Amino acid sequence: MIDTHTHLNFQAFDNDWPEVVDHAVKAGVTKMIVVGTDLESSQKAVDMANSHPALYAAVGIHPHHARQIRNQKSEIRNLIIQLENLAQHPKVIAIGECGLDYHRYQNTKYQILNTEKEWSQIKSLQQELLQTQLSLAQSLDKPVILHSREASEDILHTLRTTPYVLRTNSGVFHCFDGSHQYLKKIIEAGFYVSFTGNITYNSDRATLSTLVPSNRLLLETDCPFMLPEPLRSKNYRQPLRSEPQDVKIIAQSHADMRKIQLDEVVKSTTQNALRLFHF
Ligand SMILES: [Zn+2]
Ligand SMILES: [Zn+2]
Repeated sequence: MIDTHTHLNFQAFDNDWPEVVDHAVKAGVTKMIVVGTDLESSQKAVDMANSHPALYAAVGIHPHHARQIRNQKSEIRNLIIQLENLAQHPKVIAIGECGLDYHRYQNTKYQILNTEKEWSQIKSLQQELLQTQLSLAQSLDKPVILHSREASEDILHTLRTTPYVLRTNSGVFHCFDGSHQYLKKIIEAGFYVSFTGNITYNSDRATLSTLVPSNRLLLETDCPFMLPEPLRSKNYRQPLRSEPQDVKIIAQSHADMRKIQLDEVVKSTTQNALRLFHF
């Protein structure tokens, strides 16, 4: 199995990530992509990939970080130059995560307290950040890992107006959480799709996941987030976080929903990841 989206570079794993990776390898996870969300976590992803044979890195700026950008043109240019430098490492296999996130995140550190005018500026900054990262991916000939939340129309528009995505194998929409229509458009545009532990949370999403053709499905945990059921309710893992080894629970859910064997899901999703990311 390949866990195509982990944040082993986040604080939740600072004390024990080598053990967490060992557990995953023992559970049959052969490769894990450590995904950056800003420059610091992207650098950390590259360092980790450099130090462990099963780890690979993706470097990118998450839309959450758009609000920290003050001097739009020069700051974005500088970010892209630094991402490009990081991407020279041979174990960097994708650009991301990047995308659009219009959720207001009530009562979290990402809560948007801005006025409507400031919020629309943040949205256009997110779009600019996405476009520049798509261009970077194109110039480096690497796939993108896309994050999209409550922004389906705008992200499809941005992608359609970027020549890059007209080729196939251009990227993956990770942690998919949208409508049937949206899913259809993503598949038609040639993208891969992955679900996290979120497919174990409600049956509608699990049913939706079966509409992804088997040659377009990837496995991911998005750890330390999205702990799958039944681990989440039982609350017995300490610290309470998901880990790459949980990708097996997600693969089993796909198998159950599709009424096929676990082996078939493992085989097709591994082939898909190899095809997309060229490890
Ligand atoms: Zn994400
Ligand atoms: Zn993520």
